[in-house]
Amino acid sequence: MNYNIAVIPGDGIGPEVVAETLKVLDKVGDKFNHKFNYTQVLAGGAAIDETGECLPSETVNICKNSDAVLLGAVGGPKWDALPGEQRPERALLGIRKALGLYANLRPAMVFDELADASPLKPEIIAGGLDIVVVRELTGGIYFGEKGHKDTPMGPAAYDVEEYSEGEVKRIAKVAFDMAMKRGKKVTSVDKANVLESSRLWRRVVAEVAADYPDVTLDNLYVDNASMQLVRNPKQFDVIVTSNMFGDILSDEASQITGSIGMLPSASLADGNFGMYEPVHGSAPDIAGTGQANPIATILSAAMMLRYTFGLMDEAASIENAVHKFLKNGYRTADLCGDAKESVTTIKAGDLIAAEI
Ligand code: ATP
Ligand code: MG
Repeated sequence: MNYNIAVIPGDGIGPEVVAETLKVLDKVGDKFNHKFNYTQVLAGGAAIDETGECLPSETVNICKNSDAVLLGAVGGPKWDALPGEQRPERALLGIRKALGLYANLRPAMVFDELADASPLKPEIIAGGLDIVVVRELTGGIYFGEKGHKDTPMGPAAYDVEEYSEGEVKRIAKVAFDMAMKRGKKVTSVDKANVLESSRLWRRVVAEVAADYPDVTLDNLYVDNASMQLVRNPKQFDVIVTSNMFGDILSDEASQITGSIGMLPSASLADGNFGMYEPVHGSAPDIAGTGQANPIATILSAAMMLRYTFGLMDEAASIENAVHKFLKNGYRTADLCGDAKESVTTIKAGDLIAAEI
């Protein structure tokens, strides 16, 4: 099969980690008889330098007409002086909006080989850990009514948390579909003991669950969930939650893995379309030094194969190659400390590609 991927290398280490990822994708294509076609487009600082805008309309059009988008990272000190609406980071919000990316998926994985990098006790994460947080990305309190008013206690400000049945239904479906491809368990996180919007959330999630008899549904209050994430994270498979709770929980979940250079993410729209990018930023402090860890981006490509293209074996082949690379004792500088010798970004890409 032929797959068309819009590629946004971006700024800083973005182009470096993306180059290694395409290397790995090409190997997967060779092995499984697929053709991945890449169209490189500009966004972020690179686009500002070239065209004067952080998100040229050509970029949006090419992304829309592709099967999926792979993004490195955007931004950096070079563009820090620009006013808010012209900054490279705006390109991300613009793309999310233009492409209708309402579901943000962030896996938190602890690789057995990297257990020493996690802040959790070895016995808690023994045998590895694999959780996905599914965060609603285009609704809730971040997008509800906002305002100011006068009260007897002085001037006040407010933000409204609001969810419609349709919004909850579509994010719940993403979570259950995901669980079907994984450990068949969904934990829905809310604050239904206090919030009306959470009660609607809980009811609609239960309705969606009825269509997935093979998946177990648990409901947790967000305070309990944040505690359970560090106490007993292995109870989780897929966590689905609102925009704000997801913002907080996905950061917490990502930190239990210990290393930002390892973490992929996906932002999905209706009908399997998605944008895939590492959780980390453009890391200007190490750009050009060959120290960047390409694994977060390589694993993002594996998510693309699994969730947008439905290529399960191909996705697994990438994840297995990363495991073998780590098992063989190789690490990039971010995972080394002083004791170990590190491999460069390019060497890491070569070694992982060779394991496909
Ligand atoms: P952004 O605002 O884009 O998220 P940031 O400055 O908050 O950017 P990062 O760019 O993610 O954060 O960098 C945070 C730290 O992690 C930096 O010290 C950076 O060098 C390091 N880092 C980020 N990504 C990687 C990577 N892939 N490999 C090695 N180190 C990384
Ligand atoms: Mg950051």
